[in-house]
Amino acid sequence: MKLTAPKGTRDILPSEIGKWHFVEKQFMEVCSLFGYDEIRIPTFESTEVFSRGVGDDTDVVQKEMYTFDDKGGRSISLRPEGTAGIARSFIENGMGSMPFPIKLCYNITAFRYENVQKGRYREFHQLGAEAFGSAGPRVDAELISMISLFFRRLGIYDSMLRINSIGCPECRKKYNDSLKGFLLERYEGLCKVCRDRYEANPLRVLDCKDERCKTVTAEAPLLSDSLCNDCADHFVGLQEALSDLDIDYEIDKRIVRGLDYYTRTVFEFISENVGTQGTICGGGRYDGLIDQFGGGCVPGIGFALGVERLLMEMDSRGLVPGENEKVSLYIASIGDETVALAHRLCFDLRKNGIAAETDLTGRSFRAALKYAGKAGFTHLMIIGKDETDSGVVKLKSLKDASEKDYDLTDLVERLKEEFYG
Ligand SMILES: [Zn+2]
Ligand SMILES: [Zn+2]
Repeated sequence: MKLTAPKGTRDILPSEIGKWHFVEKQFMEVCSLFGYDEIRIPTFESTEVFSRGVGDDTDVVQKEMYTFDDKGGRSISLRPEGTAGIARSFIENGMGSMPFPIKLCYNITAFRYENVQKGRYREFHQLGAEAFGSAGPRVDAELISMISLFFRRLGIYDSMLRINSIGCPECRKKYNDSLKGFLLERYEGLCKVCRDRYEANPLRVLDCKDERCKTVTAEAPLLSDSLCNDCADHFVGLQEALSDLDIDYEIDKRIVRGLDYYTRTVFEFISENVGTQGTICGGGRYDGLIDQFGGGCVPGIGFALGVERLLMEMDSRGLVPGENEKVSLYIASIGDETVALAHRLCFDLRKNGIAAETDLTGRSFRAALKYAGKAGFTHLMIIGKDETDSGVVKLKSLKDASEKDYDLTDLVERLKEEFYG
């Protein structure tokens, strides 16, 4: 029987890992500039974390979650996103009594049972961040500016930021009634999914991709037009704070985001690049989430982006990061006498931060040379009797074929200086 990776999962091979490292490193560096510290949370949680956090009525919880009973009979779910687990951790670890704001960032795998399509997997990778403890719009703008700086570092300068406010529970209650009234008159025109959504979560109907629903809701009342005073002020404050930071944005009153915990600010970064059009990052405020978990009134805001989607975007723009510039050296030994010396030299080089390899498979000298040429090493060194007698070795660049002599006695020190001095 041939074993294959489960549908919706994939291997990330050594040949492509460089891109991943590049993106992850840029992300963590930018987060750290903004005072966000990394948090690592479990891959699975009690199912309740997501049913309460993400929302029982959402597609994510109802249809897409990997849920199972463990051997102790507990209902467990693989995390479909990061925020609910982090909120759980925030409370469990007493972060509510630490000085605010608490700024956290993460790099996780997440799992959703979805239709597999280009750039969309059942196991996928997310980078994201959360800021707890500030209700003011300036923290929203700061988080958004962090994402924008991250994109710039990757070479993406033209993504469009769209913002909206979906209000607080107060304004939403009022709005839901008027939206329901509007939809009820047009109920027959809605898709089946939206007919089910209509009662519990009418806001999601505005987000439906079905053409029928798009037509029906074209004239629907919008939440951002009926915000309470506080929410309206907050939204204006966000726009001012973004302008202060010279961040361009558009207001898109139809953004609602898919998850129940959002309040007030919601935003998306959109790529207008041909071929990969669409959302590359989304987030929003969730002022009620910690309270919903029993952790008291702690406001929060966060975002997440799919790494697979982001890499597709970079690929399509030709932004694949440059060749790994790291020096890596291959030592080929001639004859058995120098095998041990070559191996010890490798260890010395590695101890000094220089990647080095020598043969471990019993290749002949000739085969070893061939291997070194193919395997992507930057430099080749040959050690045989001549070299040990004279105490001088040649280092050959495999990029431009230039050669240089070194004394064996201070080889490591000199290479270290030349490569990394
Ligand atoms: Zn409100
Ligand atoms: Zn629909």
